[in-house]
Amino acid sequence: MKTIGLIGGMSWESSASYYRMLNEQVKQRLGGLHSAECLMYSVDFEEIEHFQSQGKWQEAGERLADVARSLEKGGAELIVLCTNTMHKVVSSIEEAITIPVVHIADATAKEIHANHLHTVGLLGTKYTMEQDFYKERIADSGIEVLIPEATERDMINQVIFDELCLGEILDSSKVEFQKVIQKLIDRGAEGIILGCTEIGLLIQQNDAQAPLFDTAKLHVEAAVKEALDH
Ligand code: GLU
Repeated sequence: MKTIGLIGGMSWESSASYYRMLNEQVKQRLGGLHSAECLMYSVDFEEIEHFQSQGKWQEAGERLADVARSLEKGGAELIVLCTNTMHKVVSSIEEAITIPVVHIADATAKEIHANHLHTVGLLGTKYTMEQDFYKERIADSGIEVLIPEATERDMINQVIFDELCLGEILDSSKVEFQKVIQKLIDRGAEGIILGCTEIGLLIQQNDAQAPLFDTAKLHVEAAVKEALDH
């Protein structure tokens, strides 16, 4: 089993899910008392969020590159960056290390293709929904990506940062997310990408009328595959 290096803390609420799912999946694959060989470097999200909101992506990339170097030095053999948004700076991380990074959008696109879907809706932070770094990676694999309307994007972003990243899971927000999901389905989405690693804390498959692609879960599955099947 390869040692997985997790870059976590963005937010720690979803990193805790990563840690749990990683161990559950390794146990499921190997049985007995098996658990994941892993290291997690969990950053202070306040610092990273300031970089994001001030557009200081280069600084953010340098910070996460340092973290990745530490994980490689500590024995990690592959890297899992436990956030969709910070994949904006994935190339800074990749350039700093010699071990592979398991890309969250690639893991997601693979599953969408496995389900033979062509058009999906994307929920995530405003950076993930509005900028190209994520959408284009999915689109380049031949999948059309629809995003919510501007006011809906603001609501989703606010729920992510002011509730989910703080561990607040509110029924009222779930209802708002369900409305947005249904509108995306009405516009032609055959499935919905939960493109923020905290959204799975709020929305599960039985809350929607179309297949949901929970990026945190798919990312963990890809990491476990990489760690075990080499
Ligand atoms: N965890 C989130 C994501 O998957 C949002 C937090 C962040 O901005 O990194 O995008």
